Amino acid sequence: MFTPEYGRIRGIARGGSRSRKRFGAGLDPLTHIQMHFRSWENRDLVRLEFCEPIETFTLLRNEVLRFGMGFYFAEIIGGLFPEREANPEVFELLLWGLQRLELCDDPHGLARKFEIKVISMAGYHPQSGACRVCGKGTGGKTNFRFLLEAGEIICPDCYNDFPGPTITGESVAILNRVPTLGWEGLNRLRISPRVIEELDGVISDYIRYHTGGKFRSKTFIESIRHGGTRA
Ligand SMILES: [Zn+2]
Repeated sequence: MFTPEYGRIRGIARGGSRSRKRFGAGLDPLTHIQMHFRSWENRDLVRLEFCEPIETFTLLRNEVLRFGMGFYFAEIIGGLFPEREANPEVFELLLWGLQRLELCDDPHGLARKFEIKVISMAGYHPQSGACRVCGKGTGGKTNFRFLLEAGEIICPDCYNDFPGPTITGESVAILNRVPTLGWEGLNRLRISPRVIEELDGVISDYIRYHTGGKFRSKTFIESIRHGGTRA
């Protein structure tokens, strides 16, 4: 479970599968709930007493891509933030992400916004405002090289000797823009299909670098995207 006050917590719900009265749909994954639990200082697990759903995200549940995407959001948060560390801002981001997944017509664009926002909240936002070598700003240039391990970019005047994926100025502008926007601004921001595709590889590699593993949900999303699984 992910909470605004206590961050990620794990717990048990005694009789959870039987007691619809105490738990209802509140134990379903990707559900926004109100919950009551007990915790003990020397125990990792809390005990869920009862919970009730606030939002169940019905549409998200009925479309396999959106459902996989919701799990991906949750997996990223699980990879970037430790247990029992309060982070109301990240809670708000997850809630926004799930609510938008339910409504938006562009889940892949939403995923890029979520990824950039979450790495920024985790303190890993790439230094994408200026070239690492010459220090010049990124406006007006068409291509940059992205240095995965350093989280930095290099402009075309300087990147001869530096290996790494090349990304367009349009992608760099999105990288710089997303962290500055609030929810409304993010909802209005359109990301072109080319940038969605380009940042898909770069940002997920970058997140993987910081979390140390590939997410199962991401593999699943890729298999759907490339014509594999059908709902
Ligand atoms: Zn430069």
